[in-house]
Amino acid sequence: MLAHWSRAQDRAPVACGTRGTATIASMLLPEVLRLARALLDQHGLGHWEVSLDSARRRAGRCDERSHKVSLSRHLMALYDPDQVRETVLHEIAHALVGARHGHDPVWVAQAQAIGASGQRLVPPQAPRLKGRWVGRCPAGHEVDRLRRPSVPLSCARCSPSFRLEHLLSWCCDGSPVSPAQIGAAYSHRLELARTTRA
Ligand SMILES: [Zn+2]
Ligand SMILES: [Zn+2]
Repeated sequence: MLAHWSRAQDRAPVACGTRGTATIASMLLPEVLRLARALLDQHGLGHWEVSLDSARRRAGRCDERSHKVSLSRHLMALYDPDQVRETVLHEIAHALVGARHGHDPVWVAQAQAIGASGQRLVPPQAPRLKGRWVGRCPAGHEVDRLRRPSVPLSCARCSPSFRLEHLLSWCCDGSPVSPAQIGAAYSHRLELARTTRA
């Protein structure tokens, strides 16, 4: 199973509520599936299945064993046709050379031969989904995460190392979550940081 076509750990702050250039000309999901089907057929993968999944960071996945390519419904709904095509061709290249090649030069050559970029990661300008967890510092900088923070974090834009005065406070799905609600370990670490500073 290859699940490589995702972003590098994306910790960059994102502006609240924006989706970048998401809505230029995104495709409807049935069109995405039709395009993927056509491309698979065209490259001799008529016996492969294509489906949608709920991944939020990874755009596509290629499962060699079950002969399935699966695409993120969330990201495909945001991508323009070229980005969808790139995602599908990326996975087709995996299917053609075999998962053992990962993103090595053999895969890159195959990807480029069928019209993909041969890049391992989604380009930084591609639309992305915000994580459910949004942390905000006192100055208003925001970061988002897919998962609950395990330890207190301070704003990387305000301070390169942990500083209580730049602590991020968290919302999940838009509702504020207190340190106690985040978890016992989290609150404990925060208490410690507060006592150490005093
Ligand atoms: Zn890949
Ligand atoms: Zn900040």
